[in-house]
Amino acid sequence: MKAVNRIPLANPVLNGNERKYVLDCIDTGWISANGKYVTEFEEKFADFCGTKHALSCANGTVALHLPLLAYGVGQGDEIIIPTFTYIATANAVKYCGATPVLVDCQNGSWGIDPNKIEEKITTRTKGIIVVHLYGHPVDMDPVMEIAKKHNLFVIEDAAEAHGAEYKGKVVGSIGDVGTFSFFGNKIISTGEGGMITTSDNELADRMRLLRGQAMDPTRRYWFNEVGYNYRMTNLQAAVGLGQLENISWHMGQRRRIAAEYIERLSQYSELFTLQPEMPWAKHAYWMVSILLSDKVKASRDEIMSMLEDDGIETRPLFYSMHQMPPYYDGSSDYTVSDAISSRGFNIPTNATLSEEELDYICDRLVHHCQNNL
Ligand SMILES: *Cc1c(COP(=O)(O)O)cnc(C)c1O
Repeated sequence: MKAVNRIPLANPVLNGNERKYVLDCIDTGWISANGKYVTEFEEKFADFCGTKHALSCANGTVALHLPLLAYGVGQGDEIIIPTFTYIATANAVKYCGATPVLVDCQNGSWGIDPNKIEEKITTRTKGIIVVHLYGHPVDMDPVMEIAKKHNLFVIEDAAEAHGAEYKGKVVGSIGDVGTFSFFGNKIISTGEGGMITTSDNELADRMRLLRGQAMDPTRRYWFNEVGYNYRMTNLQAAVGLGQLENISWHMGQRRRIAAEYIERLSQYSELFTLQPEMPWAKHAYWMVSILLSDKVKASRDEIMSMLEDDGIETRPLFYSMHQMPPYYDGSSDYTVSDAISSRGFNIPTNATLSEEELDYICDRLVHHCQNNL
């Protein structure tokens, strides 16, 4: 059985006002970093998260860099991050000259393990970045408690988790700051783009200043310090606003697809399991993830290549930071992250998957696993 068309892992769906708004930018000449779509996208995004402020920016990586800069993080400082994440989380810390201190993830949510944070806190620790991995929220209550006790800031890297909820609270509104990505494969997209949410007025002002080259707000073209050009364009925001107007649909499609996978696959727990949804969580299902059991003798990469031959695109779970050259720390402490990352992969989670495609993907996945026991 060979699929005629390759089934992609992810693809943007631009089925609302995106086209209309982009054409409006072109017709009016408002294509750069000022314009009504930037303002409206930011206002609507703040409403969506329930925060006072939302600041658009160039991508989800600089969305992490700006709050770290605004908190004054620099040389000699330490920031706690999960080792199991996308590299942008660690890189943003490195850009400040600070050191990312790695913590293992936990079974269940796959997020940072709150029980392993305190042992990593030193006098140099300034903050914690949690990552809502693949759209599943981190267990935030214990993290916020530790942060309060040690006077640390908390940034939620919600790049993959638009609309996910922790105990009824939308992610990005729980810590001091939330950050989002609108890269092409994320839950909603602007091509490249990012957003920062916060209810801290002072911090928001500081980030706005740094985002625009630190130009003095009271004296045009006067600069008291080194800033950055991390702005989003009106063109990107036009796409973003169109996407955001439809975010319930985008979120609903992902929950529908996840439910369809669970229905078809949960009976095969001797072959593999899916990333679970914890009782306190509303998973945003940026990606549905499969974890192969030890009973499957083929390697993760072999199963993925069999699926590739069937025309099904998959993707390995992230390699942990402690395995990669820039952040290698020689420790073998990260057993949970290692176990998950080496045996897991993502299966197609694009919003337009049909029942037929879902049947086909599940059928092939089960077939290859059963053939390799
Ligand atoms: C995608 C992503 C980012 C960075 O976003 P970009 O827009 O690609 O810069 C940061 N953190 C996580 C967890 C991500 O998945």
